[in-house]
Amino acid sequence: MRFSADIEVEVFSFDVDGTLVSKRFTDAVWLRGIPELYAKKEGLSFDDARRIVKSEYEKVGEENINWYKIDYWLRKFGLETTAEELFMRYRNEVHIYEEVEHVLSVLKEAGYELIISSNAAREFIDFQIAPIKGFFSHIFSATSDFGEVKKSNSFYTRVCRILDVRPQNVVHIGDHWVFDFLNPRAIGINAYFLDRSGYKIKRGQNKNTNDAWQAYIISNLADII
Ligand SMILES: [Mg+2]
Repeated sequence: MRFSADIEVEVFSFDVDGTLVSKRFTDAVWLRGIPELYAKKEGLSFDDARRIVKSEYEKVGEENINWYKIDYWLRKFGLETTAEELFMRYRNEVHIYEEVEHVLSVLKEAGYELIISSNAAREFIDFQIAPIKGFFSHIFSATSDFGEVKKSNSFYTRVCRILDVRPQNVVHIGDHWVFDFLNPRAIGINAYFLDRSGYKIKRGQNKNTNDAWQAYIISNLADII
């Protein structure tokens, strides 16, 4: 374990997209599934449909809570399908990173509470982590549960309050520099930045990082056990 003796860890919190699972499934749903259905409905080529769909996504933008809601988009494009049907079509694209299950079972056996802190909509989280869901005591979706589009400082504060744990006793790991690293750190959570490319670590420095941060950058979840 990489933690100094003065940190008493009780809870390990994980981001989902890019951390526990790759982006294959969500990309397939948003950038293949929906454009394909829209192309069929409107009699367009896939490329044209995709251009239109993407520009509609951009008009709404990720600061808007609707951006995250699959039902909103199915309705908006008038698509005759359900999220479940769409998800099932791309179920083979769900990809849990290979070290995840081992890391979770080691942490669980060591007695830690494991949770999820994601900004993905709940249905995307539930579908993708189904095989490993049993490891987690709580699943928090910033968008579905708190109506927030980003994992802000207040998101993490609420999570800690609900769990009745001090931020100092929580470790969070995720792959977004601001939402998984700087924001949780700002309230005292021991956050680790996951850089699966290893790029920043190899280079040893990056505009985002300084030497003090290097100890908190990992390239694989196995680095925390
Ligand atoms: Mg992520």
